[in-house]
Formats: sequence, C-alpha cells, structure tokens
Amino acid sequence: MTLTIGLTGGIASGKSLVQSQFEALGVPVLDADRVARDVVAPGSPGLAAIAAQFGADFIAADGGLDRRRMREHVFADAAARQRLEAITHPLIRERMRAWRATQRGPYCMLSVAILLEAKMQDMVDRVLLVDAPVELQLARLVERDRIAESLARQMLAAQLSREARLGAAHDVLFNAGEPAAVRQAVASLHRYYLQLAERGDFKAPGLRLPAIENSFTIKI
Ligand code: ADP
Repeated sequence: MTLTIGLTGGIASGKSLVQSQFEALGVPVLDADRVARDVVAPGSPGLAAIAAQFGADFIAADGGLDRRRMREHVFADAAARQRLEAITHPLIRERMRAWRATQRGPYCMLSVAILLEAKMQDMVDRVLLVDAPVELQLARLVERDRIAESLARQMLAAQLSREARLGAAHDVLFNAGEPAAVRQAVASLHRYYLQLAERGDFKAPGLRLPAIENSFTIKI
C-alpha cells in the first residue's frame, strides 16, 4: 500500500507553495480543489444532483455550476451547506480513493484545504499541516488576494482554529521563514516519508520542522 499524506493548512498558510515543492520532487499530488470542480462539471451526475436538490437556477448559462450563486446561498445557511456537501463530499472521496488506488510509488499526497473540517482524515495515513502564525497568515492573505484587512480577519475567524489544526496533525511544517527554508523543510519531510514508506510504519512519531523564524518581511 502506498503511504498517503494529507496536506492541509489554513488559508494563506502556504499550502500551495508546499504542495508545488513536493510536486517538484516528483511526488504525485491530487489537489482536492480540482476534484471538487470535476465532480460538478457540466453534464456530471454531481451537477444533476445539485440541480435536482437546489433547482435549475443554480446552473449557469454555460451549463456549469453557478458557483457564486451557490456560495451566496450556502454562506449563511448551514443546512443548505450540509445538503450541498452531502452531494459533493462522497463524490470527492470516491475520486480520491480511485486515484489513491492507482498509485504505485512509495508515497502520494492528497492536498485538501478542508481535510479536518470535512473529517477526511480516514482518507490518509498522516496529516501534514502547514502552519503559520495568524498575523503572518493575515499579511499573506491581504497581499495575495488584495483584500481589506478586515475581510481577511473575517475569513480567518471563520476557519478552524490554529490550535485545532495543530492538535490533529501528525507532522507540522512551520512556514514562517524564507521560501528557501520551506524547500529545506520539504526535502526533510520527503526523506522522512520515504523512510516511513520503506519501513511500512506509517504512524511513526511525527516531525515538527521549523522554518527560519522572523526572516519573512511582512508587507501590508
Ligand atoms: P495557501 O495555499 O495556504 O492559501 P499560498 O501557498 O498561496 O497559501 O501562500 C499564501 C501567500 O503567501 C502566497 O502569495 C505565497 O506566495 C506567500 N508565501 C507563502 N509562504 C511564504 C514564505 N515562506 N515566504 C514568502 N512568501 C510566502
């Protein structure tokens, strides 16, 4: 069985950066965001189920899901969100399972921002968390998405807490250093995962890798 790592992290923690560095090392990574789009692609059974549940109004003129409308619909309505997830999550899980079953290398990675919120830990052998101090996450989010700091704070407040994430992770990459430090940390994790895969001991004690602290200049 191929060792499966679940990569996760709060918004603007640096998950995409870390993911791309694992990919650069040749690690097969399945991005759950892409899977989430695929399962509701035009003509898909997932989209048909959404239309049946929520109405044809949620289908855009191009035959795809009207994402904006759906986002607004489920934003303040937890029950609607649950109904949507009851359709999409099993489909996403199924695709992930099928992909994982095709893997023949020592280890592979599922990159899932909502891994913990969606309780998808059972899909992976280990959870790798990309962690950053909240203020740094905030600064990165404001800069990357060009949004107001107040909105960025709201987005962060709506997420699972940093503590809850840390409590659920097997391995933690503390991303508060230079990108070069992240590369080094990814290289260490890569060696560690190869060793675990070789030993077949997937649940061995975790790694906490510090990036170089305070070397990242916050630009707001
Ligand atoms: P996520 O995928 O977790 O939302 P990203 O990987 O997109 O986060 O990172 C958020 C932003 O912060 C991006 O603009 C990214 O380039 C930047 N970033 C992430 N980590 C670092 C780092 N160690 N040094 C400098 N910039 C970083």
